[in-house]
Parts: sequence; C-alpha cells; structure tokens
Amino acid sequence: MTTSIVRATCPHDCPDTCALLVTVEDGVAVQVKGDPDHPTTAGVLCTKVSKYTERTYHKDRLLHPMKRVGRKGEGRFERITWEEALDAIASRLKDIAARNPQAVVPYSYAGTMGLVQGESMAARFFHKLGASLLDRTICASAGGEGYKYTIGARIGTDVEQFQNAKLILIWGGNPIASNLHFWMRAQEAKRRGAKLIAIDPYRSLTAEKCHQHIALLPGTDSALALGMMHVLIAEDLLDKEYVEQHTLGFDQLKQRAAEWTPERTAQTCGITAEEVVQLAREYGGAAKRGEPVAIRVNYGVQRVHGGGMAVRNIACLPGLVGAWRHAAGGIQLSSSDTFPKNPHALQRPDLLQQQPRTINMSTIGDALLRDSSPEFGPKIEALIVYNSNPVAVAPESPKVAQGFAREDLFTVVLEHFQTDTADYADIVLPATTQLEHVDIHSTYGHLYMMANNAAIAPLGEAKANTEVFRLLAARMGFDDPCFRESDDEIAAQAFKRNDVRAVHFDWDSLKRKGWQKLNAPDAPFANGGFPTPSGKCEFYSEQMKAAGLDPLPTYIPPHESVASNPALGKKYPLAMISPPARNFLNSTFVNVQSLRDTEGEPHLDMHPSDASERGIDDGNMVRIFNDRGSYVAKVRVTDKARRGLVVGLSIWWKKFAADGKNANEVTSQQLTDMGKAPTFYDVLVQVEKA
Ligand code: SF4
Repeated sequence: MTTSIVRATCPHDCPDTCALLVTVEDGVAVQVKGDPDHPTTAGVLCTKVSKYTERTYHKDRLLHPMKRVGRKGEGRFERITWEEALDAIASRLKDIAARNPQAVVPYSYAGTMGLVQGESMAARFFHKLGASLLDRTICASAGGEGYKYTIGARIGTDVEQFQNAKLILIWGGNPIASNLHFWMRAQEAKRRGAKLIAIDPYRSLTAEKCHQHIALLPGTDSALALGMMHVLIAEDLLDKEYVEQHTLGFDQLKQRAAEWTPERTAQTCGITAEEVVQLAREYGGAAKRGEPVAIRVNYGVQRVHGGGMAVRNIACLPGLVGAWRHAAGGIQLSSSDTFPKNPHALQRPDLLQQQPRTINMSTIGDALLRDSSPEFGPKIEALIVYNSNPVAVAPESPKVAQGFAREDLFTVVLEHFQTDTADYADIVLPATTQLEHVDIHSTYGHLYMMANNAAIAPLGEAKANTEVFRLLAARMGFDDPCFRESDDEIAAQAFKRNDVRAVHFDWDSLKRKGWQKLNAPDAPFANGGFPTPSGKCEFYSEQMKAAGLDPLPTYIPPHESVASNPALGKKYPLAMISPPARNFLNSTFVNVQSLRDTEGEPHLDMHPSDASERGIDDGNMVRIFNDRGSYVAKVRVTDKARRGLVVGLSIWWKKFAADGKNANEVTSQQLTDMGKAPTFYDVLVQVEKA
C-alpha cells in the first residue's frame, strides 16, 4: 500500500480558507485533516469539511455527462459522452453567438473560491465569446462598497491579533457556524479577560456564548452605529489626536451624530437607550484606557436595503476612538484587498472585442423572464452555470425557477451533484472536487496565500472547470495561446510577483509548502495611510456624494419593515432572516447525509408570544408566506428569535424539503443601497399553521 499526505486548501465560501492535509492510500483519499502547523487553521476543521471524503465519494456524485430527457426541473437525464456534450454545447453557443453573443450569460459564484477553477479559463472563454458579463453581487458587494468608502479597501485587523483585544464586538455574524477560526481567537481573548458582545437580531450559537447580546431589529445596524457615535462624541470618548490627524469630516459627522440620541436610536433599533449608551461607553471607555478594541463585522448586516451604509457607518467607529493604533484594534470585514491578485492575467478582459452588457446575478429571476429590448439587450438564450446553485440560492425563487423552466433557454450546469439547478439543465457536466484538481487561493479572513494540490485522480469522467472551458474554446475555434495554458501556468500568474505584499511569490514553492503569509503590517492604519482618495478614514466621502449617496453616515430604513412600510407590515407583520445553518455552507453539503441528519429538517424559529398569538405550538408545521410565495417548515418556539422576528436557518435544497421549496420563496429581488446586492434579510412575512 502506498500512502501519501497531500497539501490542499478548503475551497468553500468561508473566510477561514483552511490548510488541509489529505491522506491518500493507493489513490484513494481516506482522511482530510486541518494542518496543525498553519497558524489560523491550527489543525481544526469545521464539521462540514471534516466530512470531505464522504462528500467526495458520495454515491450521488455526477460521474459522466448527461442530457435531459424529462421536463425541465423534473431531473430525468441520460448518459452521453463528453464528445456529444461538448459538440452540442459548442454548436448551440455558435448558433446564438452568430445572432448576438450577449444572449449567452455565465452564472457562477463561490462554489469554489479557487482563483483557477473560479474565474480564469471560464472568464477568458466568455470574454472571447463576447457573452454578457455577470455582476457577482450575491454575497458581499454592498458591505465591500460601504467599507471602501470609509477605509479605502477591504483591509483590516489580522484575525491572528483578535486574541489580544480587550473588547470584541461581533457584529452581524455567527462565527461558530461560519468563521470558526476567528471564534477560536475570540475564545482565547475571552480566556485572557476580554469582553465579547454580539450584535445580531437572533440569539445565535455565538450570541449565546458572548457576555452580552444586543438583539436589534434587522436592518437597523447603521442606526446603532450612529447612536454609538452620538454617545462617543457627547461623552468625549474620542481619540482627538487620531481624529485630527487621520480622519476626514469630523465636524460634519458631529452634526449628523447629534441627531441620533440614544432614545431615537433605541426606538429605531428596537432596543433600550441604556443598551446604546452602555455599548458606546464600553467601546469608547476601553479605547480611552488604551486597550485594544476590535470589531468583527460580518456580511449579515449588509443583506438589507441600507446594508452598504451600515458597514460604512460601523467602519467609522475605530477611527473615532483611535482603535487602529493597536494591532489588535480596528475592524475586520474582509482581508481580500490585502492580496496582490492579478485578475487581468487570470481573466484576460483584453479578449473582449467590445464592452458587453452586465447582468446582475441577484436579479437573475427577473432577467430570465425579460424579452429583448433596447435597454435590456437580447433575451437570455443560454445560461452556463458553474460553482453555483441559483435555483436554491438566488432571491425570489419562484421567478428564478420560472426563468429556468423556459423551454427556449439552453442551460448547461457544471456540478458535483444533481442540485436543484442541475434539474433544470439541458446538459449536466461532471465537475472535479477540490481533491481532484489544482488551485491557488487568496482568502477573505486571513493573510496567507494558499495552494491546493490534486490529491487524487478525477472520479469517473469528471473534469476540472478549466478543462471544460479549454475544450469548449477549441471547439469554438478560439486559438489564443491563453486557452492552452495549464492550471499550473494559470496559478503561477495569480499574484503579482513583484508586489511587496507577496514578496518572493513562487507557485512551485507555494505548492510544496502549502501556504505563505503576506508581507502586511500588523497594525495597518496605526499611522493613518488609508487607501481612500484623501488618505484618511473618511467620515465624509466626496466619492459617495458623486455617486448620489449621502456623503455622511446616515440611516437607510429597510425596504420591508413594520416601521418603514406600515401598510405591508399590517399584512405581513414578521421580519424574517435566513442565516446559514451550522452544517451547511450556503447550499453546499445539504446532500451529505450525516450533516443533513444533524440539521434535521427545515425549521422556523419563532418567539413564544408570536407563536401563541397565532395558535402555533412547538413542532407544528407552518406556512411562511408573503406576496412573492410561501414554503413550509417545522416551528421551534424559542426566544432565540426576538419578538417580531422569525428565523429560517438555510440554505436547504428545495428537493429535500417537504413541499419542494425553501426560504428563498419569500425573499425579494430588491437591491441594497450600494453594490446592487440582494436583501435576503429585509423581508416581511406572515406565518400560519400549515
Ligand atoms: S468551511 Fe471554513 S472552517 Fe470549514 S474547513 Fe473550510 S475554511 Fe475551514
């Protein structure tokens, strides 16, 4: 028997991007472990990826190409050869492209975060074809844009520093479920005497383990940040020297914050004025004593109408109290802009003959149902889906499914499993998993460049995404040399070689070592130097003004809340959010039996008062509905959900639910204030016994 240990990287949409050690015996991966030597992974994986061999060798893995023989959505397919599949796809794409290549739309997101199997050969292919561009907004664009207006780039506190903080605000996230290795650092900080405060409408697993939980209404985080600013300024809990030297627009901010009394803030957020005052005093007081105060803001806060503004406002707080002076102070939303990525080399936008239109992935339901028009361009005739499962994950699912069901739409899906989306495909192509292909990763939660070596040969006839697009390119007659590059050659171009942050980046040595830390300062803004136009932390932003936004922090109410839309609130009085279930990662892992067994079935958490008003008992099946649609789930009556809020942990595959539906039946395609992102947590519903 030959045994080897292969260095790999977790590819999933999680900030932790763990370093993996894969044990391979006679060509079979028998164990996937966390690398004990990697400083953030520290030998620990989440439950999901600990089951990676179960997922890789799952009996339902797609192992050969198939074409649809049943109705769209029905899921009946028959085996075909790769030759047949690729010929059929190339012939249909040629036909459509001859009329208008923009009628072809790629649809992909972070099913893998790999820079090679994500947007490299695929992007080159679609650029050369002249297909529509895809605005990849479904997760992080609102918060990213808001953060950049204040800080300049998605750069923040190093996760390895959080253990040295004395106060940590965990704002809009549940790291036990979705940022485990940050949570390990926060736990260490707690052991060393730090206070942890969770700010979240829901008493999540994380909130339960913090010292304090502030359960504000969904979509009101920006108001809470303004209320904190009010108290910090009124009680002189500021670092005046830092404000003067390294921030812009304090005088205007002072005027704006004066409007946000603790009472007004409390009323807007559905909390008490004491909570607002005490939170600001804890934060500003600790900073004033010279203690590191850190905020881990996560993407939960930005899935609402004013989501960009919420992150922009929260990102102002460290500047006011001088928290950036400490390596363990400041704020982290994402570390992604610390990486000197080279998207031009990977994606080759220079292959575009002309600038095509852009389709927003967050409104794919509407887009698929539109006819040709001068403003929209051509009707979408072909959709090539990879690294995503839009029929389960895109908002306002009834319209998404209706769009995917169009008989005149040609749909190709590259997948590991027969997902809800694959059920609508004309042709399904079997994709390799992370254990079967090469990749390179940046991350959004730590500061290591990561390599993924192929541990095993592709299962069945599975092919890497890059290989599929290489073969399609050849059939389309695309003969640019970039279409013949190997995955290793692509990976070698992923980072800019001479950038000081990736000093000495060399793909071959990264592959051998598995990971390499960026050369980034411990306290990135201790002496200012923000990558904003002014070089300062911008409380006032000319860029926002130019974009038609309020240049100062403000509060943008939800599209749907009882306060912002009383008429709708009368009909649908419950706010609903659908954050990640601990054992799923978006819609990945839902089909892994052991993980699904742990989650049980689709649930809805509901406050005891809201339940009793509706005659609902714990364990009842209920129907959750609004004007967009409805789905059923089993109620858990619990005060983890604050009054007026229901919580449906997600994202279930529709086919595993009793009624073949999930929480996205009721979410909307309305967008955020910035970044054109979806508003998954900005939803009003009513609930009744099913
Ligand atoms: S999903 Fe996140 S925590 Fe789990 S192994 Fe992957 S990177 Fe690590």
